[in-house]
Amino acid sequence: MSTTATTPRHDAGLAQKLADSGLRSTPQREVVYDVLLKKRDHPTADEVFARVKPELPGISLATVYNCLETLVQCDLVRAVNFERGPTRYCPNLRPHAHFHDEATGQTHDIDLPPALFAKLKSVLPTGFDANADLVMCAAVES
Ligand SMILES: [Zn+2]
Repeated sequence: MSTTATTPRHDAGLAQKLADSGLRSTPQREVVYDVLLKKRDHPTADEVFARVKPELPGISLATVYNCLETLVQCDLVRAVNFERGPTRYCPNLRPHAHFHDEATGQTHDIDLPPALFAKLKSVLPTGFDANADLVMCAAVES
């Protein structure tokens, strides 16, 4: 365990995970990952693009899509899909479910006990991963 407290916690993880997949860490990939870690509100690619732009004014939406795709492939970020909605991105790799509030459009991480995940897995159709795919939706009445 290193004690370099000034090093952002994800740096080693990002570079290492990319290297494991035969990829390099690039400024674009780093900034995109940083943006996801900074505000964990499950942004869409368009939202990530808007947040990355001030730091990398020259970046294109296509590059942001490529970076997100790469991060998903390297298991650093999860792609979350809701019916009809655009793909959203989540850097929380702990087992959790997504709670999508239809009233506000916000998506929240919900921690479920491991035993509950195991139970869900046992009742889901084969090939369905409770950890990766479970989304709960609700419209909260005011
Ligand atoms: Zn999440």
